[in-house]
Amino acid sequence: YESKQRAGSYTRYGAEFDHHSPERLHLLGDLRRALDHPDAPGVNLYYQPQVRLVDGEVIGAEALLRYSHPERGMVNPSEIIETAEHSSVMRMLTERVVDIALRQLRAWKEAGYDLRMAVNVSVRDLQSPEFTDFLTERIDAYGVNAKRFQLEITESALMADPRRVLLNVQRLSDLGVGISLDDFGTGFSSMQHLRRLPVTEIKIDKSFVTSLVDDPDNAAIVSTTIDLGRALDAEGVEDDKVRKQLDDWGCHAGQGWHFAKPMSADAFERWLADRRKDR
Ligand code: C2E
Ligand code: MG
Ligand code: MG
Ligand code: MG
Repeated sequence: YESKQRAGSYTRYGAEFDHHSPERLHLLGDLRRALDHPDAPGVNLYYQPQVRLVDGEVIGAEALLRYSHPERGMVNPSEIIETAEHSSVMRMLTERVVDIALRQLRAWKEAGYDLRMAVNVSVRDLQSPEFTDFLTERIDAYGVNAKRFQLEITESALMADPRRVLLNVQRLSDLGVGISLDDFGTGFSSMQHLRRLPVTEIKIDKSFVTSLVDDPDNAAIVSTTIDLGRALDAEGVEDDKVRKQLDDWGCHAGQGWHFAKPMSADAFERWLADRRKDR
């Protein structure tokens, strides 16, 4: 039970995370093998709608990684990212995610849905120009509008290597790719980064959003962030009270279980069709 306790604390505190535990190395090897395969068995994306609050229109989707391990079943995406981030598997994974997301974006466009697609990237992806080159090439190959594609980047990612990351982010921004600052409020130098980065949207962290109706501190944080005047997407909208408060404050968009949980591409399309029928 000692190892169980230790495993728990590694999950909670990023700094103490053991990248070399046998379990992690095993997961890393299995992921690498899956990604080496052209169909990447078990690797999949779920999509969660992003809703414009003023009129309820679905403006896009966030692509979220799902990995079903042959023995363990579904593995928590945060665990996958933490495990892969310090190895070359991260790039393989991100390239696969981008490829699936762009193919889906194109399919939706062909089906008459004018949506944008948001994809999460890790700091590793933005430290070298290769990912930027890859993304540029793929956007072109799929013939999608770069403005319909958005990268979600966390503040902590930017702080790790601000100069190199900034260079790559700027290149993508020049292409028209949207830059969303994910988990906003959980980092440390928010205002500084906001000034220097070509950020098109702030995505305020769900830890502030979910409880804003009952927690005055979180309410103040969220309303102040809205007042920064940037397009704001609130994640973790779990009920209608929160949706309404955000809308009253002039928040641009919301995402969360109140609207829908992340879904497979098929389920997303069904959900979208049903919603349009009802409106
Ligand atoms: P994130 O980008 O901040 O994504 C939001 C997380 O909140 C997702 O968890 C989503 O399922 C969850 N969520 C959505 N609505 C609600 C809600 O109303 N209430 C609550 N409590 N949670 C909600 P998920 O899918 O487990 O992903 C966790 C994190 O893993 C993501 O956080 C992101 O940082 C990372 N991640 C996921 N997919 C990828 C990926 O393809 N690449 C990279 N680099 N990271 C990814
Ligand atoms: Mg995100
Ligand atoms: Mg987030
Ligand atoms: Mg998060």
